[in-house]
Amino acid sequence: MRIGQGYDVHRFAEGDCLVLGGVSIPFHKTFLAHSDGDVLLHALCDALLGACGLGDIGRHFPDTDAKYYKVDSRNLLRHVMTLLQQQGYRVTNADMTIVAQAPKLAPYIEQMQQNIAHDLQVDVSQINVKATTTEGLGFAGRQEGVAAYAIVLIDKCEEG
Ligand code: MG
Repeated sequence: MRIGQGYDVHRFAEGDCLVLGGVSIPFHKTFLAHSDGDVLLHALCDALLGACGLGDIGRHFPDTDAKYYKVDSRNLLRHVMTLLQQQGYRVTNADMTIVAQAPKLAPYIEQMQQNIAHDLQVDVSQINVKATTTEGLGFAGRQEGVAAYAIVLIDKCEEG
């Protein structure tokens, strides 16, 4: 068994929707990012890469590469999952926290968990997504951006 953790932040810009956990959420801001800015999936990708000792998301998907401009981060997540499987690993469970003052995320959490479970090829019971505010403190509290933390446990698939 191996463990990995990931963290990501994206800054807000003017807009009309946020993508978190592969779910489009109507909001009066969007993420300023080279990709779709899905901080939750980026933190998860880093946790998965970290667990396998494969570096970080910036190494695999550089934001200077036009190929990843406005990319759907679920494609990145699926690619990371392929790398993990090539090393003989599968996901035991993943636990994540989104830090955002707004919008209210509760109505979208279940769909995020389903998207992630699908992409990691596990049962939804192995995936947990939480959301918290910072009670108005810090950059998240001032609604300047959103942060996400992810922790994953992986184990080697059975031989044969
Ligand atoms: Mg990112």
